[in-house]
Amino acid sequence: MRLIYDLNLSDLSALMIEWGEPVYRAHQIWQGLYRQFWNFAEQFTNIPNSLRTRLAENLEFNALTLATTLNSSDGQTVKTLFKLQDGKSIEAVLMRYEKRNTLCISTQAGCAMGCVFCATGQMGFKRHLSSGEIVAQVMYYAHMLHGETNFVTNVVLMGMGEPFHNYDNMLAAIDRLNDPQGYNFGARRFTISTVGLVPAIRRFAAEKRQINLAISLHAADDALRTSMLPVNKRYPVDELLAACRKYIADTGRRISFEWALIYKVNDTREQAVILARKLKGMHCHVNIIPLNPTLGYSGRATTRERAEKFKQILDGYGIPCTIRLRRGIDIEAGCGQLASVI
Ligand code: SAH
Ligand code: SF4
Repeated sequence: MRLIYDLNLSDLSALMIEWGEPVYRAHQIWQGLYRQFWNFAEQFTNIPNSLRTRLAENLEFNALTLATTLNSSDGQTVKTLFKLQDGKSIEAVLMRYEKRNTLCISTQAGCAMGCVFCATGQMGFKRHLSSGEIVAQVMYYAHMLHGETNFVTNVVLMGMGEPFHNYDNMLAAIDRLNDPQGYNFGARRFTISTVGLVPAIRRFAAEKRQINLAISLHAADDALRTSMLPVNKRYPVDELLAACRKYIADTGRRISFEWALIYKVNDTREQAVILARKLKGMHCHVNIIPLNPTLGYSGRATTRERAEKFKQILDGYGIPCTIRLRRGIDIEAGCGQLASVI
């Protein structure tokens, strides 16, 4: 059955016409889905009973089945393992801050990019998520927070998978969540994180959207980057950075670079200096995250002192840089730790 979250308002309107219903029914359903966060047909008390039954018989509401929820000891991070209709698993993580509720969602089950330090990369690629499966993750948490008279403030596409490898579905999901008549979630509150698929970055630049873009860089020269991120063979560092410069020029937007500091691998003075020189003059920001441990990788997190040193070097070159706090490590919800156990 077709997933209701896979439909745009226009698809729903076409369906109402096909069923001989007035078009405004589509709006009512849309409001139920994206303003009330109703997630099964019987809840749609704003439409006639007969239409509710027809919805239930023809469209699937149950995109995700809750498999496990884990709460971190700090009480601020919750990781959810969902089962998809075909039994595959994905994860999403909610991080509560004082004034923000940031949701980290998946775009694929597994990932094909094989970054050596990433738990998702270590499990390999299972399949792309449909746009509706991406939307449903946000709706799950929107519904949960709605119950606490709270709401999602930011969505980062940094869970399982490479968003630019599933470009169309990923962007369709953002557009659906962005719809002013529905969930109305502002483009500026989304962040796409990519391992650096250059053609997709160029395509994205041409779309001139307000969505934030983060690039997982992690190393500043080709030898080191290829040893960590195999995709670097196809899209080497300088080509990637050229695409980033073009993106900044085309959109006027800043780019974030992600850098997971690994002890004596990419936390060295040498790497910091190469990085700083390559980023000089670019409208960007570097996010330093100490590596999160994963089973399939022996590298260790950097030390506090080495992270500070690395930052100081970037500071010296005038490159904006932040050391990010690690969140949810005890429930394996930190960056790169999302791997399904079932
Ligand atoms: N595929 C996309 C988005 C998902 S990964 C990407 O790679 O950008 C989200 C972020 O977590 C990326 O910046 C990724 O490089 C980082 N990451 C992966 N494994 C990590 C680990 N073990 N420790 C810290 N960060 C990690
Ligand atoms: Fe995929 Fe991103 Fe993990 Fe690399 S870091 S394997 S691109 S999810």
